[in-house]
Amino acid sequence: MKKIVAAVAALVMCGVSAGCDVRSKKSEDKQKVVGISMPSVNLERWVTDGEFLKSLFEKEGYKVNLCYADDDQSRQNNDIISMVDDGVDLLLIAAVDGKGFSSSLDSAMEKGVSVVAYDRLIMDTSAVTYYISFDNHAVGMSQAEYIRDTLDLDNNAGPFNIELVSGDASDNNARVFYDGAYDVLSPYVSSGKLRILSGENNFVKTATAAWATDNAKARMNRLISTYYKENKLDAVLCANDSTALGVVQALEENYRRGGLPIITGQDGDAENLKNIVDGKQSMTVFKNVRDEASVAFEVSKRLLNGEVPTGSLANTLAIDDVTYDSESYNNGKKYVQSYLLKPAVITKDTLQTMVNTGLYKWDDNKKYIESVSQN
Ligand code: BGC
Repeated sequence: MKKIVAAVAALVMCGVSAGCDVRSKKSEDKQKVVGISMPSVNLERWVTDGEFLKSLFEKEGYKVNLCYADDDQSRQNNDIISMVDDGVDLLLIAAVDGKGFSSSLDSAMEKGVSVVAYDRLIMDTSAVTYYISFDNHAVGMSQAEYIRDTLDLDNNAGPFNIELVSGDASDNNARVFYDGAYDVLSPYVSSGKLRILSGENNFVKTATAAWATDNAKARMNRLISTYYKENKLDAVLCANDSTALGVVQALEENYRRGGLPIITGQDGDAENLKNIVDGKQSMTVFKNVRDEASVAFEVSKRLLNGEVPTGSLANTLAIDDVTYDSESYNNGKKYVQSYLLKPAVITKDTLQTMVNTGLYKWDDNKKYIESVSQN
């Protein structure tokens, strides 16, 4: 809650009327200015990313203008245009809509502002210089592999019933998660061992607008009432934790064919970690956002110093398993140089792994884990 309040304050501060008074401060003290644009305060992870990034840059003496776009691409474009007009030196952007930027980033490019795509690749523009994320195909694969292994699809005859709940169709990551998962599941769907009774199996049909819990819940309720009144549901592949929350809520309220199915997730949000302990969600894919923020910071720092980060940077970072890739992430205009981190599967039995990162701690009863304030 504290984090959400802090982020809301940041969101208000970022408004155009509040000034984003970057240029005057910059000329006063010659500090370089970093503009950080995050998609939304509605999801725990973006609030955490924003806070980490801001503190990393500020500790190193940069000024930071942190904005949250309220899941609204035109707002994100307006924030970016005003930051560029105000003389920002570098932009770090987690896109609302990967394809929604061209004009706002044109002006950044004209002014020589470096643009780093954070977590979500920005499409159809040459303005993006670097991309920092996790191996998102591996995220989707891990979720599907968990389902495959838990149902023991290679040995059990089945058939098992599964439904897929994907992310927002305008988020480039959402399709990558889906592709990773479907690569693992498709042989079992083709053989009939896995059945998707709704027939909703492609990315667009399974997408969840704005990754919203309520939208995932509404779709799950429709699936339950149409297909799972009589049939058992064995697994729901949820692309992240906010969609998993909605799916759990719908199933708890309306599914009557036995216990909850296998439910996947991603992020390690507080409520979902609680659901994992309580047996309502089976797993989450944890992406250490402090590490992601640190890599983004290291790349940005070099860009701000006029250097050109390359593959060798990945080997000098104090973070394990960072891969540099300049040949895989084409945004429609060019291959964007990318640094990718490795995600980790978390279940009830491996929550200690998250505690070991220093970002979480056990509660007083040693039952649930909660995030540790990094301030
Ligand atoms: C991020 C996920 C997040 C989702 C919804 C994706 O682009 O990679 O971590 O759960 O957006 O905000």
